Amino acid sequence: MSIRDLVILGSSSQQPTRYRNHGAYLVRWNDEGLLFDPGEGTQRQFIYAEIAPPVVNRIFISHFHGDHCLGLGSMLMRLNLDKVTHPIHCYYPASGKKYFDRLRYGTIYHETIQVIEHPVDKAGVVDETENFRIEATFLEHGIDNLGWKVTEKDTRKFDRELLHTHGVHGPLVSQLEKQGFIEINGKRITLDEVSSIRKGESIAVVIDTRFCKQAIEIAKGVRILLAESTYLDTERDLAYAHHHLTAKEAAIIAQQAGAEQLILTHFSARYLNLKELQDEASQIFPNTQVAEDFKRFPFPKKK
Ligand SMILES: [Zn+2]
Ligand SMILES: [Zn+2]
Repeated sequence: MSIRDLVILGSSSQQPTRYRNHGAYLVRWNDEGLLFDPGEGTQRQFIYAEIAPPVVNRIFISHFHGDHCLGLGSMLMRLNLDKVTHPIHCYYPASGKKYFDRLRYGTIYHETIQVIEHPVDKAGVVDETENFRIEATFLEHGIDNLGWKVTEKDTRKFDRELLHTHGVHGPLVSQLEKQGFIEINGKRITLDEVSSIRKGESIAVVIDTRFCKQAIEIAKGVRILLAESTYLDTERDLAYAHHHLTAKEAAIIAQQAGAEQLILTHFSARYLNLKELQDEASQIFPNTQVAEDFKRFPFPKKK
């Protein structure tokens, strides 16, 4: 089975620190690499994380503040240098097209990679692939800023033993899958008798926003919610003024959305000790963890 995890490539907000690079988040999933918000220096963070950049095939830009996109150009150039042959899908708020173009063509290079742009101008499903459904929503950050939800499709898993017991073999299996039932020697066997549904994984990314109902909506029932928590509750006035979340607010979003796990990130440089942020959120949402550069979070085991 392929790796399925979230790799933190950076966890700072606007101002990086000695220990935290500009944010960047890689989700490795179904042989795809989904890169969220490549901040400055993301290319080098891949090297420290010992992950080869060509794993990336989708790049998501939540908004065009520098800490969320300054690494876009160098990532595209790196993929170009690595001569990747798969297309690179880029999702970003449509109103930021000119910034996207500037970042993409900021320097001289001979572009050979195939970049497929998905400018997003309205909330809802923005892409549906063989593996995933990708949804976006507009958050509240003073400028166009997108929150994301990626959901894997449900799959049906056959129980080999039950198939054998009921004498369902070879092409009969696909016939059963198509029809929902099959008759063998006068006996009717239904799909549910010999198989079960494996619920797809899901992740939501909510970075740079004030507390808002769209953040709760996009994170409904997800297995992992990656959310910003730039400040502690003691700085809630600052958070409001700068259109950001506190750890407490991120926890309320996770709780109201019914998420399974909350991972906090995008920390203000003022916090040296992240435990305070984790403790604040954990009081409301116990299954909270904090992002640290190069930390890896596998999808939580299913109960
Ligand atoms: Zn930011
Ligand atoms: Zn921002």
